[in-house]
Amino acid sequence: MKHGYGASEVSHGSRVKLGAMDRTLPDRVRQLVDEMEHEVGEDGFEPSPAEAGSEGGAAVENAVREILLEMGEDPQREGLVNTPSRVRRMYRELTAGYWVDPDRLVNNAIFDVDYSEMVVVKDIAFYSLCEHHMLPFFGQAAVAYIPSGSVIGLSKIPRIVEMYSRRLQVQERMTKQIADFLMERLKPKGVGVVVEASHLCAVMRGVRKPGTIMTTSHVLGLFRTADRTRAEFFSHLARTPPTI
Ligand SMILES: [Zn+2]
Repeated sequence: MKHGYGASEVSHGSRVKLGAMDRTLPDRVRQLVDEMEHEVGEDGFEPSPAEAGSEGGAAVENAVREILLEMGEDPQREGLVNTPSRVRRMYRELTAGYWVDPDRLVNNAIFDVDYSEMVVVKDIAFYSLCEHHMLPFFGQAAVAYIPSGSVIGLSKIPRIVEMYSRRLQVQERMTKQIADFLMERLKPKGVGVVVEASHLCAVMRGVRKPGTIMTTSHVLGLFRTADRTRAEFFSHLARTPPTI
């Protein structure tokens, strides 16, 4: 990974040494990153005038035009003339997770609590892009942990899922990253993550069966070593949620 918080030491607010196309974050992406970090509300999407002609964007937009040509399309026809710009902005938005600072995300949301039963958050909807085809895969994640002195604010867990899903991903790695992140930050007795997703690269291409769901799981600590814990977790997943 060459940019974002995945590997580099780019500091917040001065993202000058990023990839060729990245100087500053477009407002919408900045907003998404802020939402993941701070959980502010959703606002409408209006690209700023500065963003529209941002430096570096031209190369990306030209590349999209090349792809359109390769398809046999006319990039100048009315419906396509703004497509390169849209595609560029869309990918920035769909990969905003690279820009989330994990420290900010969990900031002030880990609490000392004397509770040692399993915490389960399930049906967390997510949308990601498979890194092999840059096509969406999407579904639900379930995350559970057994606290060891501290808990994390409930609303942060979907944000952690979002931080890892808004990237180019493979489902297996995303599942592991979510589990590893909680294990590292919360130091719980164990973590379990199950992700179920449909991959458009499998559904749309070849002779694949539509509706195929891929399930991945990653278990750590007690979820790995204790059969009862693991069984309890999976029983939570099978249970029909209470009606409200
Ligand atoms: Zn794929």
